[in-house]
Parts: sequence; structure tokens; C-alpha cells
Amino acid sequence: MSLLIKNGTIVTATDQYKGDVFVDGEKISAIGTALTMPADRVIDAKGKYVLPGGIDVHTHLDIPFGGTTSSDDFETGTIAAAHGGTTTIVDFAIQYHGQTLHHAWETWMKKAEGKAAIDYGFHMIMTELNDQVEQEMDALVRQGVTSFKLFMAYPGVFMLDDASIFKALLRTGKNGGTICMHAENGGVIDVMVKKALAEGKTAPKYHALTRPARAEAEATHRAIALAEIADVPIYIVHLSAAEALEMVTEARDRGLPAYAETCPQYLFLSYDNYEEPGFDGAKYVMSPPLRAKETQDRLWRGLAFNDLQAVSTDHCPFCMKEQKVLGENDFSKIPNGAPGIETRMSLVYDGGVRTGKISLNRFVELTSTSPAKIFGLFPRKGTIAPGSDGDIVIFDPEKKTTLSAKTLHMRVDYNPYEGREVTGVTDTVISRGRVIVESGKFTGNAGGGAFLKRAIRS
Ligand SMILES: [Zn+2]
Repeated sequence: MSLLIKNGTIVTATDQYKGDVFVDGEKISAIGTALTMPADRVIDAKGKYVLPGGIDVHTHLDIPFGGTTSSDDFETGTIAAAHGGTTTIVDFAIQYHGQTLHHAWETWMKKAEGKAAIDYGFHMIMTELNDQVEQEMDALVRQGVTSFKLFMAYPGVFMLDDASIFKALLRTGKNGGTICMHAENGGVIDVMVKKALAEGKTAPKYHALTRPARAEAEATHRAIALAEIADVPIYIVHLSAAEALEMVTEARDRGLPAYAETCPQYLFLSYDNYEEPGFDGAKYVMSPPLRAKETQDRLWRGLAFNDLQAVSTDHCPFCMKEQKVLGENDFSKIPNGAPGIETRMSLVYDGGVRTGKISLNRFVELTSTSPAKIFGLFPRKGTIAPGSDGDIVIFDPEKKTTLSAKTLHMRVDYNPYEGREVTGVTDTVISRGRVIVESGKFTGNAGGGAFLKRAIRS
């Protein structure tokens, strides 16, 4: 099967030009002007952008949390991702207390197998570290699971102490892996949560009021300091607070390999959403929480000036019915997370490129190229070049759509951006040479995605 995409504007992290792309089997094999080779299928991309497929390095499909499970599994979640122009995800496997990393990896491989419609890799969440686990980290890195996520929050569930964090960092210095950090001071937050509940403060907004920006900034600073002592890079996940961004900026200005991502929810939503009537604030209960509206401009500046290197989603949907409602009388029991895997590209294009906050090249870099480089997928993924996978999004920069749970494909009963109009919509999506979305219809298949063995840091 071969595919010729003609007359589009090809955009990468560095270039923008009119041209044709020829995909032979699963790989891009030629780029040029007026390519004339015969192809099984020709797609006319006139007036549209031809972009490398989106890469979302922070998703939680089929993840147990707070007595329930995120409502998208690897089938519904990856189909929704494809509709939104994302052709690769890196999800998280979890090592629970007393389990081996290998067991966790196998468990999550089974969740994805036969279901994922796009390619996928895994980060490994470690909740316990001992000599055996450290050795297992090396084995996992060799098997292509080259990043590990640690938590400074959720004491008793996910949180690791500083000694364990430091040991894990040191180990990645030897095995070439990368540590990803959930940076919030879990001890302090726990005290504040208990105090609020004791005072009868049970509404969703108290989720945010008990997780202050300074608790994120403190943990971000500590994470970077531990990585500096260990002399290894670090990647901060879902950075939300301007105070935390300052810590990353300070470290990068000193030349340290500190990296961070933010997510659309922190760029487009704010604390005000928690004040919505009734229990609606629960739609936005996620950790870290939404911040003051003024934070948004600071994060956009961070993205523009490379203090932030990626926009991922932290997609972790829970329905209002039967799931979010578990915390109706106690905000600390609201499952943490929100849907976003499908809306990332349109939101960042509409709110970032069209407003002039970031360039079109930077948009591609933040949603595809840079995460591919940081997480060992480049140049197989993250660009349009001969030899790269034929993961291509044909994007219509002029088309408008209104975001709504009714028309989006994520399996969840609300959308945090309900009613928002965006300009810039995914038209056609190609995953390793196969057209998987066409004219708004999914034409791929569950199980069409493959596990990605990722490379170590170079
Ligand atoms: Zn997450």
C-alpha cells in the first residue's frame, strides 16, 4: 500500500513549504515538489497543513484510581486521540506496592493489546524502590520502557521519599532512562485536606484550595535539586503554576537539563471553573489543580521561550455520573482527572498559533517533535522526513468546530471546553501509512497500534 499526499503545506518544527509526501508501506520514502510516482492512493491536501502526527506523552487509559477506573480504555481513548490528530501516546503502567516492574508492564501491555488504534509506549510509575526494583529498571530500559514516573504527592499510595527518588535518579544516570516527576508536596497537601474536611469544607473548589501553587513550586524545586545532585536530567509532568515554572526557568538559565510539560487545561481553564454552580466544579478536579487566570499568560510565555518543552494532556477521564459523584460530599473522594486526548491539537492551534502566542513551527515542536526527542521516539516519530514513520495529520487551519461531549469521541459524559469554538481541525489522519481518520470518520482498527520500544537518552 502506498500513499501520495499532494499540494499541501508541509510543516515541521523547522520548515514550512508546499510539497508532496510519498508514503511507501509504513514509512515516508520521498518528499518533493510535483512528485509523480504511481501510488495506490492519492490525497489532495490543497489549502491544508501536512503535519507530523501528534504525540501525547501523558495519558491514563484504563487506569484504576480512587475506587473507579478512567472511563476510556485503550480502544476508545486511542480512537478519540486519532480523531484529534494524535498518532502516538505514551501511557503509564503502575507498579503497586509489593509488585515487580515487570508484572506492571505486562499488565498494561495486556490492557493495550488488540485495542490500541495508534502506536503506544509506556512510562513506568514506581511506588516502591529496593535493590531488586533498581535492577529491574535497567531491564525495562533495555526493553524500551525508558522513562519512570515518580510521585512527590499522594502519601501512602504513590508518594516516594527523597532517598528513593534520589536513588532512582542516580540509576537513570547509569541506564540512560529519564525520570518524570509529579511535583507537589504531598505531605503538606494531606494536612491541608484533613483540616478543610474537619472544618466542613467539602465542595469541589477545596480540592484546589488545599493544593497551593507554592506546594507545586516547592516540589518542583526539590525535584530539580535532587536531579542536579545526581547529575541527571529531569522532566516535570503537568506543570500548572507560574511559581513552579519559575523554578524550571531558574534551573535552565543555569544550564541544567530540566524539562517540563504543561497541558491545555492549564492554558485555557482556571480556578474560576471550580466556582461553577452545584457540583459542576468536580469536572475540573485534577492534580495539580487549575490555577489563577493570570497564570495562563505565564505558561504561554514558557512555551514560546522553551522553558516548557511539550504540551501533553494528562487525559484521565471520569464521568460525572457514577464516578465524579463519588466525591459529592467530600472533595477528596472525587476521582482526579479530566478528558483531553482529542482536543489538544485544535486547542493549542486555535489558542496559541492563531493568537500569535506561538509560531506554527513551535506548535509542531510542542505537540510532536520535542516530546519525540525527549522520550526516545525521534526521528522515527515527530517529523516528516524520509525514513520516518508515515504518521501524518492533514490539518485544516480554516475549518471551525464547536467542542462538545455530544460530538467528540472520548467515552465521558461531559467536556471541560463544552461550547468553545475553535478554528483549526484535523481532517485526515495517517498512522504508519494507513488512513485511520477520514472526513471525521474513524477508518482504522482497534489493535492497529503497535508497542513502541523507545530509545535511551542520547
Ligand atoms: Zn497524570
